[in-house]
Amino acid sequence: MKNFQFHRPKSVADAVKVLKGNPAAKALAGGQSLLPMMKLDLTQPGDLVSLGGLAELRAVRVDGKTLLVGALASHDEVSRSTAIAGLAALAAGIGDAQVRNRGTIGGSIAHADPAADYPAALVALGATVATDRRRIPADSFFTGLFASALEPDELVTAVHFPVPERCGYAKFGHRASKFAVVGVMVAKTAGGVRVAVTGAGPSVFRVPEMEAALGKRFDPAALDGITVPAGGLQSDSEASAEFRAHLVGVMARRAVASA
Ligand code: FAD
Repeated sequence: MKNFQFHRPKSVADAVKVLKGNPAAKALAGGQSLLPMMKLDLTQPGDLVSLGGLAELRAVRVDGKTLLVGALASHDEVSRSTAIAGLAALAAGIGDAQVRNRGTIGGSIAHADPAADYPAALVALGATVATDRRRIPADSFFTGLFASALEPDELVTAVHFPVPERCGYAKFGHRASKFAVVGVMVAKTAGGVRVAVTGAGPSVFRVPEMEAALGKRFDPAALDGITVPAGGLQSDSEASAEFRAHLVGVMARRAVASA
């Protein structure tokens, strides 16, 4: 690990001052992804900007018909919120107790791991990501493998989730880490049904055929006969692309059943 300057800003504005236009600077939230990468020298920030003192980013509260989750809210804190049961269940299934206590929603979505759970929730629920400078709809936030619409010096401040009529999440987790081999969130709102899949591809994606079927009848049986093609899905020692394609159907049915 290379030497670095450690910063402890007391406000978002002070954190942005260090990050802005500084390619050597990185935000540190829970450290569950960044610190292992630094130990492996996969990233070598010259300035590490701890977000730990930014109490303003910790809120988890309902604002009208929206659940606001501050970027620094831990997975454990999200799992204890009751406004969106499917989101709470998703957060409760991330990693282990240590990861849930330290890891944050802002760090997870900024990292954009293709096997992370939150991308499915953001896309299925039609969430909006708030940053220090703009608002980004979830549909355009995740842009590829470990890639997002964030600028290198941009700070996530919160995620706004519209509260759905119903939603459910089901995942087939990695045996050791619990990362999603395949995770599916299904959400029903006044605007229709959205189905978002994480873990299966290089980035989260929606399944329009499932959404149309569930829009007519919100029942696991409505998904009978609907498959996703294996082409383009991930294939590794945990699961082949064909198995992942099969799991998308199984997890989608379970997600509807749990909604
Ligand atoms: P950090 O590690 O601090 O930062 C990660 C990246 O995000 C860095 O590039 C950092 O600069 C950037 N960043 C952090 N906060 C912000 C912000 N507010 N704005 C902009 N950029 C920011 N995840 C799952 O989804 N499901 C799992 O089952 C799962 N299992 C895990 C098991 C283990 C053993 C471990 C170690 C991790 C696991 N994770 C899992 C990942 C975990 O959820 C991490 O918490 C998450 O990926 C990163 O969050 P963090 O707060 O620790 O971010």
